Amino acid sequence: MNDTVPAPRKPDLILVGDRPRPLVDGFQRRITYLRLSVTDRCDLRCAYCMPERMTFLPKKDVLSLEELYELATGFIARGVTKIRITGGEPLVRRDIIDLFTALGRRLGQDLAELTLTTNGTQLAEHAEALARAGVRRVNVSLDTLDRATFTELTRRDALPQVLEGIAAAKAAGLKVKLNAVALKGVNEAELPDLIAWGHSQGHDVTLIEVMPLGDVEEERLDQYLPLDAVRAALAARWTLTDSSHKTGGPARYVDVAETGGRLGFITPHTGNFCEGCNRLRVTATGQLYPCLGGGEQVDLRAALRSDAPEANLAAALDEALRIKPEKHHFRMDQRGDAPALARHMSMTGG
Ligand code: SAM
Ligand code: SF4
Repeated sequence: MNDTVPAPRKPDLILVGDRPRPLVDGFQRRITYLRLSVTDRCDLRCAYCMPERMTFLPKKDVLSLEELYELATGFIARGVTKIRITGGEPLVRRDIIDLFTALGRRLGQDLAELTLTTNGTQLAEHAEALARAGVRRVNVSLDTLDRATFTELTRRDALPQVLEGIAAAKAAGLKVKLNAVALKGVNEAELPDLIAWGHSQGHDVTLIEVMPLGDVEEERLDQYLPLDAVRAALAARWTLTDSSHKTGGPARYVDVAETGGRLGFITPHTGNFCEGCNRLRVTATGQLYPCLGGGEQVDLRAALRSDAPEANLAAALDEALRIKPEKHHFRMDQRGDAPALARHMSMTGG
């Protein structure tokens, strides 16, 4: 792909003097973080994320790697300093390393961090190339260390591949964080072992409450495990000390004395975190969702493919800031509700 730095942008829309006109929303939250989905496709079918027979978006609707780069640079021009590539499974997208390489060239200039969220199945193949591109940290989703549970949960027998991927990432010098969705009756009993294993390998671990995104084949409430209860159970077993560690994200961390590791909790239901939100999310088709838990949407692809992409992209970003809601409206308290949102996490980018 062509990764040359684009021409200077229209000063009034993008710059204040010679500085980027910052992305600040109606609640005075400054946006510095972009989560960019590069595909809605995936080689797993996690039961909480998508149905077995998932309908994926037509390829023609998905942004090219060049468009994704252009989009990312539009955000960087407005002061975004951290980009996380996500999906679907980003590493199943052909030539995706080219995008990492192109964006990686901006590290140390106007981009401070380039990261990835992955299910790990293809990580063994790509870990070194990611490190060469300038990626320093990866989040790997791992809900269980039990092969049978993994196969049932993801509907694919891929645990050995994922563990190989995690080991390859570590060997390539990438800092790995493990993310596990806490699921009632699925990995609930195993969580202490999963955390202890992650910490023994030198990886931080973050637990996530399941969110009602898109139809899956199971009742959401059957999957939902509130993390305040998990935390209380862990506190009965281990010494948990609130940590001052902050990533600018929604996780709240504790240090676990017995394992020597750090444990995060992402609690959309039992502890709202929207006040400090610093991010915007863009799908692989260029739809910007100002909030993971809201229906608001801005079409960046139309802006990108218009006659005046720079000006229209800047205007679209301003619109996104205008409509970014104060907080999400997920609810997990009523059985039989329609999902809060029709779109799946794999589409929005987790
Ligand atoms: N495929 C990659 C992966 O699994 O890491 C990246 C995309 S995935 C959508 C990102 C994260 O979203 C994963 O950690 C996954 O566990 C989480 N996730 C997916 N659906 C979810 C849901 N309904 N509630 C909470 N987390 C979810
Ligand atoms: Fe795929 Fe990630 Fe969704 Fe699992 S959570 S189905 S790995 S996109």
